[in-house]
Amino acid sequence: MDFEPAPEVAGAPAMVVLALDIGGTQIRAAAILPDGALLGRRAAPTPVAEGAEAIYRACTELLHGVADDLPAEVRARVAAIGISSMGPVDPWRGVVVDPPNVPSLRDAPLADEMEARLGVPAFLDRDTNVAALAESWLGAARGCRDFLYVTVSTGLGGAVVHHGRLMLGPDGTAGELGHVTLMMDGGPRCGCGGAGHLEGIAAGAGLAAQAQEEAARGGSAFLRARADLAPLTARDVAEGELAGDRTCRLLMERARRAFAVACVGWVDAFNPELIVVGGTLAERQGERWLGAARAAVESSAFRAPAARVKIVPAQFGDDVGLVGAWPLVAQRRGDPVWREKRPGRSHGASPGGRAARATPDAARAD
Ligand SMILES: [Zn+2]
Repeated sequence: MDFEPAPEVAGAPAMVVLALDIGGTQIRAAAILPDGALLGRRAAPTPVAEGAEAIYRACTELLHGVADDLPAEVRARVAAIGISSMGPVDPWRGVVVDPPNVPSLRDAPLADEMEARLGVPAFLDRDTNVAALAESWLGAARGCRDFLYVTVSTGLGGAVVHHGRLMLGPDGTAGELGHVTLMMDGGPRCGCGGAGHLEGIAAGAGLAAQAQEEAARGGSAFLRARADLAPLTARDVAEGELAGDRTCRLLMERARRAFAVACVGWVDAFNPELIVVGGTLAERQGERWLGAARAAVESSAFRAPAARVKIVPAQFGDDVGLVGAWPLVAQRRGDPVWREKRPGRSHGASPGGRAARATPDAARAD
């Protein structure tokens, strides 16, 4: 049952998937055809302050809108819903666990709600895992069975694909590559609350916070001037470096170095064929960012995996969470590990049940 790239995937060449990508500011939806084409794309703001029911309603309206616009022949082939959600999630139960930016979705049974309201099966996973499937299906990791996906924007997320399947771990949280600790004694605060994590040092929110501190301390004329206009962002730091500001250069160099050092550890730990790097911050940095990582891996990782791995930019942009819905459904539809939980399972936390479901998956992964 290993995942192979489409169209052979799951023997479902005609399947159409309704895709839902739910983030902290926006919900996006589209229909994904077997060749990866998107139809009926639409979006709406995430009603963060209005509670879970409002979010379910917004998702339902978007999906109904997408389905209603499809030609009848295409609509008849809609087999399931694939959902990309901010993490952490319980992918077996289709539950959003504890998203820091949308507290009303804590323990929300999003997949079940969509399934009940739309009348087709729904499958859900963390946004970075769904993105990795998109890159594996039709993007930078096409045909590649062992790779890492990393996205560097406001936060730093990751996914591990091993033997063509997502590595989930017994709690579904495996692949959180941004939360490795690089500084043991303090360091910048991370989005998760920890200190000295890669994300806090190298991703957008962490860089903005570090820049704000430097501006308050009076360390950089460039940042002080920018801070008078608007709250600082990682973009200010990157532009400050290009303008020759020393503090900005040091912050960006540390961010690139942190990412590069982390890549060395990932290469030694996972022996990936590829590290696919997406996200707006890495995309804007381009070769500056990737080149630093390649140089560090070449000089410091074990020789064999360093010679094998390629560090490449992601191919999908904003659509990645929608496109990945198709291979997500293709991998899970008809697989008892994902389906047996269906009738009558509890929505509440049930560590025993999760462990019981996780075991066959782990056994099956190889
Ligand atoms: Zn963290």
